[in-house]
Parts: sequence; C-alpha cells; structure tokens
Amino acid sequence: MKQDARKIVIVGGGIAGLCAAVYAQKCGYQVEVLEMHDIPGGLAANWRRCGYTFETCLHWLYGSNPSSPMHAQWREVCDIDRLTFIDHEIFGCIQTESGESLTIYTDVDRLEAEFLRRAPQDERTVRQFTAAIRKIAKFRMPSPGRSWVANLPALAGDLPCLLLLRQLSRLSCMEYGQRFTDPLLRSAFGEGEMGQMTVLALFFSLGWMSQHDAAYAIGGSQALIRLIVDKLIGLGGRLRLGARVERILIANGAENNAAVGVRLASGEVIAADWVISAADGHATLYDLLGGKYLTEATRKPYEQMQTFPSYLQVSLGVARDLAGQPPIVTRLLDAPLSVDPGTQLRQVSFRIFNFDPTFAPAGKTAVTCFLPTRNFEYWSSLEQSDHDAYQVEKHRVAADVIAVLDSIVPGISSGVEVVDVSTPATVHRFTGNWKGSMEGWFIPPGVSFKPMPNTLPGLRHFLMVGQWVSPGGGLPCGPMTARPAIQSICHYDHVPFTPTA
Ligand SMILES: Cc1cc2nc3c(=O)[nH]c(=O)nc-3n(C[C@H](O)[C@H](O)[C@H](O)COP(=O)(O)OP(=O)(O)OC[C@H]3O[C@@H](n4cnc5c(N)ncnc54)[C@H](O)[C@@H]3O)c2cc1C
Repeated sequence: MKQDARKIVIVGGGIAGLCAAVYAQKCGYQVEVLEMHDIPGGLAANWRRCGYTFETCLHWLYGSNPSSPMHAQWREVCDIDRLTFIDHEIFGCIQTESGESLTIYTDVDRLEAEFLRRAPQDERTVRQFTAAIRKIAKFRMPSPGRSWVANLPALAGDLPCLLLLRQLSRLSCMEYGQRFTDPLLRSAFGEGEMGQMTVLALFFSLGWMSQHDAAYAIGGSQALIRLIVDKLIGLGGRLRLGARVERILIANGAENNAAVGVRLASGEVIAADWVISAADGHATLYDLLGGKYLTEATRKPYEQMQTFPSYLQVSLGVARDLAGQPPIVTRLLDAPLSVDPGTQLRQVSFRIFNFDPTFAPAGKTAVTCFLPTRNFEYWSSLEQSDHDAYQVEKHRVAADVIAVLDSIVPGISSGVEVVDVSTPATVHRFTGNWKGSMEGWFIPPGVSFKPMPNTLPGLRHFLMVGQWVSPGGGLPCGPMTARPAIQSICHYDHVPFTPTA
C-alpha cells in the first residue's frame, strides 16, 4: 500500500488530535484535523476580553526542562524551545482570614524550612514528606517511545522509588494531609473534590517543579497549541475549524467492521483510510459511533469510573499592578462560598498572572479564580431553561469571588474593570467534554494511571487518543497517546514510523 495515498481523519483539534496529526504527517500520511470550535486547543484554552487574556489551563507544563525525556517528546511535535518558560520560586501561598500564611516553595529545601517554621511539632512528618518529593523527583518515568519490556531495566533500578509510589498511590491528598497536626499544613493538601485525588499527583507535580521540569510558558496553553499547529501546517497537514463531526462512518465486513470516514454536521462526508477520535470519549462511543461498539469492557469506565469535576472560572481584569503577589493565592474561608446547590467551597484559589506580560496592558493584571463543581446538570439545565436566571447566578458567584479577593488585597474591587464567568455549561459547549469534565478520568487512590485500550473490539482502522484513554489527563497525554497510536497505524500499514523526521 502506498503511504502517500493513505488519509487519516482526526476528530478534534485539542492537544491530542494535533499531536496525532503531526506524528501521522511526519510518517507520510495525509492528515485532516476536524475541530468543531473556531479555535484549536480544546481545554488548552485562553480567551481575550477587553485587552486581557484569561487562561484556563496552563499551570505547569511537564517537560519544560530541555534535558528531560518529556522535553524530547515535545520536540517531536513542535519547536518547544521557542517557548519562554517561567520557573516560579513560589508555587503558591495559603492564607487564613486571620492573617496566618504558608508559602509553598518549588525548591524542596525551602519548602521543608517553611513547613518546619510553621509546624516544628510535625518535624518527622515534614521530613518524610520532603524526602519523598526528593526521591520522586529523581524517578525516571518510563520512556513513552519504548515498550514496557525495554523500560524494565530502568524501572528495576528505581525499585525503592517504585515501592514508595505504590504506598502513596493508596492515599488521597486529604488522607496524606491528615498526617500533619497543624491545620494550615493539612489544608495545603486540598479539600473537597480535588482533595480526593491520589496524592501521587501532588508528589509528581512538586517533584517535577523542583527539577525545573514543570514550568509555566509565557502566552499560556495557546502558545503551545500555536506551535503544534505551526508544525502541522509546515508539514502540509490540514486543520479545519468549525467542522463538527456528527458520525464516524463504518463499512461492514465479514468479520470486522472498519472506519471509512466521517460525516460532518453540515452533511459533508469525508472519506479516510483511518479515523482517529481525539474528542470526548463518551460522545465518541455513544454518539459518533452510535453505541455500536460498546461491550462490557468498553462500557465499564463510563459506568464505574469517576471523571474530574467540572468548574466555574471567574476571570477578572484588574487595573492594578499586582507585582509582589504570589502566582497562586489560596484563601481558607471561615464561611464557605456557595457555588451552586451541592457545592460549598472552604478554599478558594486565585491565579494572579503578574508574571505573564502578554495577558494584560502594562500596570494591569489578569486574575482568575477556579471553582470546581460536580453539579454539571444544574448549570447546563439553567443555561438552557432560564437564560436570565443563569446570568443572575453567574453575577452572584462573581460578586462573592470579588469579595474574597478584596479581603486578600483590600480595595482591589474598585480596580476590577472586566468580569467574565464561564460555567460547566460553557466548558461543555466549547469542548464537548462529558459532564464538562476538566481533565477526563479522575484518579482517586488505588486507581492506575495506566493507559486504557485505544482501539475498540470489532472495529478496524479506528483509534482513540487523548485524555479519555489516559487516566489523569494533562497536556502530556497529547503526545503520549498520539505517538503509540500512529506507531500502531504505521505497523499495520507497513509504513516506517519516523517520529523525528
Ligand atoms: C482548569 C484546568 C487546568 C488545567 N491545568 C493543566 C496544567 O497545568 N497542566 C497540564 O498538563 N494540563 C492541565 N489541564 C488538563 C489539560 O488541559 C487537558 O487534559 C488536555 O488539554 C486534554 O486534551 P485532549 O486533546 O485530550 O482533549 P480536549 O482538549 O478536550 O480536546 C478535544 C477537542 O475535540 C473537539 N471536539 C469534540 N467533539 C468534536 C466533534 N464532534 N467534532 C469536532 N471536534 C470535536 C473539542 O472542541 C476539543 O477541541 C488543565 C485543564 C483545565 C480545564
């Protein structure tokens, strides 16, 4: 089969779809990415309002350190070295209403000193905590380009760390936090929804940050997306925006069926030799494929696993220079903030983008507040059934959030000149993600980060990539799921896999 005649259609132009497109194009396929939205990136988004840019995704990018293996993988899909990374000395700061505070440093020695200053009585637990970060920071993640067998020797060398990872994987952030007696230290391990996540996620983030391998990129997530799109277009690939796929088309075979293209919402049919879905997993299985390839195994995660929560984001354009504020300020509230029926938050975090000059005019600052919720139904039915009430609720939440910010920086509310509120209904409208999930499959204690199958039984010439086949999600799941998917297509088609071409 001649490789230049082979066409791959990719549903969804989020990071995973774009990375798959770059790998496929590098291997000589003709690729067309179909993205329903008018900008690519999916959850890796930011938007402009009246001179401010509001970021939703990027806190840190794993693989920012040029000497790390993940950086090498980013280089396969874009010119990552064109990004300007900011390594924060302070990750964030936790404050109580009575003026107590705890700084979370990215340097482990400084973090340890800060925790000991705050809670000398917790010394043993603090030292165990920081020793674990140091150990995990050195852990070499299995190379995504190599099989498990090829990765085994390196993993065997990391055996003590693997045992530690196994122990920690059984605990949630909140459970780990209970080891400390000091209430402020405990609160550093989160509460509510995010506190239920496996504590491993926290250890990895702190470990990578300590190695300067999880930095923020100036311009946020869209700066990364633009680089991948540039790479794709430079290789001759095609990205079509405003192209919503309604159906994946199937040819029935004697033994197996095969994907042969897609039909857009406009009615247009696009034929392809392979179809890759980089869109929401639930919509792919239940809608685009009409539920035809659901087996007990493929149905199971959607019936039994938990998704990451959805969220509201209150974004504020503030006519103040907030230099000196930490990048993240978490306020512990005496009286909880009510987000919606069923969601009361005792911790509210603000991101203060004083470190990204591209996000606000000089002397002004973009500030965002992330409010997790699992009440997707409430926001989506309110938006559809009563638009006025939906707006009123958005304004109420924004006013409450501004009041909290004013208690952190007194008088700041008078400088707020732009207010933008997105809800779970917005997340769903712009990305199609199931229940407005922010990151796909949630990882509570005991659940594995192991990738899920990327094919469906009984369906040939079809694969899935992205956060719905990579529990825990995150931007790295783009290249990490795209690479093996294209490798297996190449293998099937007897085409050389050339990711560094
Ligand atoms: C608040 C927040 C903070 C985060 N922080 C970080 C962080 O600091 N670091 C990090 O690494 N990750 C972070 N993430 C996670 C990361 O953004 C996601 O896991 C990742 O972007 C998912 O990429 P994806 O391509 O798998 O899916 P998506 O981004 O959801 O892309 C799917 C794409 O498919 C399109 N689509 C869906 N249906 C159709 C259809 N029928 N036809 C055509 N197109 C369709 C959608 O419009 C979308 O563009 C964060 C996410 C959020 C929301």
